[in-house]
Amino acid sequence: MAASLVFRLHDRGPQLVREVLLERGWKEYDKRKREDRDWNLYWRRSEFHSSEYHSLLPWERLNHHPKTAGITRKDSLVRNLRRMKATFGSALYNFSPTTFILPNEYTSFLAEYNTLLPNRERSVCWICKPVDLSRGRGIFLFRDIKDLVYNCSVVVQRYISNPLLISGYKFDLRIYVCVKSFNPLTVYIHQEALVRFATEKYNLSSLSNVFAHLTNTSINKRGPFYKAQKGQVGSGCKWTMSKFRYFLQNQNINEPFLWQRINNIVTLTLLSITPSVPDCPNCVELFGFDILIDTKFKPWLLEVNHSPSLTLDCQTDLSVKKGLISDLVDLMNYTPIDGLRYKAYQTQRNVQTSFNANISTPVPSLPKLKDSNFQQKNEKSSKMQHEKTKRHLPPIETLHWILGSYSKMNVVKTGLSSRQMKYAPQVTNRDDAETQDVMENEVSSSVLGTQGKRSTFRPSTDSWRLHVQEVKPPIGQHVPPIRAGGFIRTFPFNPATLKASRVKLDVPVVLQELQKLTARVASGRLEETTGEGEEEDEDCFDSLLWGPEDPPLLSQWFNTKT
Ligand code: ADP
Repeated sequence: MAASLVFRLHDRGPQLVREVLLERGWKEYDKRKREDRDWNLYWRRSEFHSSEYHSLLPWERLNHHPKTAGITRKDSLVRNLRRMKATFGSALYNFSPTTFILPNEYTSFLAEYNTLLPNRERSVCWICKPVDLSRGRGIFLFRDIKDLVYNCSVVVQRYISNPLLISGYKFDLRIYVCVKSFNPLTVYIHQEALVRFATEKYNLSSLSNVFAHLTNTSINKRGPFYKAQKGQVGSGCKWTMSKFRYFLQNQNINEPFLWQRINNIVTLTLLSITPSVPDCPNCVELFGFDILIDTKFKPWLLEVNHSPSLTLDCQTDLSVKKGLISDLVDLMNYTPIDGLRYKAYQTQRNVQTSFNANISTPVPSLPKLKDSNFQQKNEKSSKMQHEKTKRHLPPIETLHWILGSYSKMNVVKTGLSSRQMKYAPQVTNRDDAETQDVMENEVSSSVLGTQGKRSTFRPSTDSWRLHVQEVKPPIGQHVPPIRAGGFIRTFPFNPATLKASRVKLDVPVVLQELQKLTARVASGRLEETTGEGEEEDEDCFDSLLWGPEDPPLLSQWFNTKT
């Protein structure tokens, strides 16, 4: 009998996730028919409760990491980027417009406002945004401080008044970023993205016209010109990134440099919270980064979205978002370990009597969050969760039996890095009677190694890192896949950044490498060295240049530019 993977959606959405997973042969969790923990992926738009992170079973994945509000709340983002700027210099952290958090920083804002006052004629505008709202709600623009009226916590930000326009329309980019892991930091950016247009022509003399100044779809789809043909932009308010790339080709700019700067924004922003995110190997996160490009082709970070919209408003949404979610599932790399859920619950049904007799048996050691404060604070709720868990899980002996060799073996992360490896292995519709060996062999046969050879598969899921004896495989085996569908690995991007993020994140080294790479992309120059650790990893590590339609390997791209 085939054993499917099971997904659980909080509040019955998003529909797109349901559709993609059902098409891939997954089953939807139904609480009337399944136990509380009988699922492989729990997806919710809002944050998970901290206790939910503490008792995750090896096969359970969540679509959020804990404690990411440090970049997804507008005020926290400002604080974190400011701190990074103060520590590492404004040359790197110059991608966020000057911002003040009000009411607390009203005096500082006033001082800045007055300094810029003589330039008022030269279009110094400000934008005011509630700190914890989204979709353009509560946002307004102003020039004169007397128009600044607010009744909640807001950020007031310098308005980028010279945006790049297409046929006179303002736009921004919604870039999809997947953080596979914060420890070690592993980041992917999707090749496809959305270009979101305002639906009325940009005009600085009417700051109150939201259809000209805000690019949120939720606003513009209600505008009078949403369906009209708008010059090059066309009808509606969205393009795909592919279409935007085509537009860029006629702009006579150093395109890879623009992509690299966007890539830098993503990495630098994530670095600001990476050390404070508790280690939670079973989590993944899809962020939406909103980037505005100005007339000098400088990209600016406007905000980071915690749960980027997966609503399908038009054909463009469908073509971008469906592939995105499908690639995300590939990137999550479901392996035989995830198939063990089925075994566990199947066995539970068979051993119900002995399970009841062993009700006080503790669950096996599960991945623990590293942040001790976080852990302490949530100890109580965690205990409650744990108690709940006990009632629904087979006893430890049964779990050991179910997990078999997985509970004892030295699990290492697989080095699936390969250009040919477009899709990660899956274990949907697996026969529950299979032995672990058969499962391993089967998956192994679908994975190509770095040099195009078959590589030996080891269950790569990070969930097992804390269950098993840590072994240090050769460095090449730590390299996360270079891509999964449209997701391109952007961090780590060379041996030095791999090394700098492996144990404890070495931010100065990462920044140094990022600067070197950016300088090389800007000039198209091949330098003699690519950083520390290069010698040992040369053969097993490569990275793609994120951005171009057919991303070249960095090494090849630099070679052709010399
Ligand atoms: P929300 O979370 O409500 O979408 P954003 O910060 O993304 O808030 O702002 C909404 C829109 O306002 C953006 O998509 C962009 O079009 C515009 N915008 C926001 N900040 C700026 C800015 N500093 N300069 C120019 N336009 C901005």
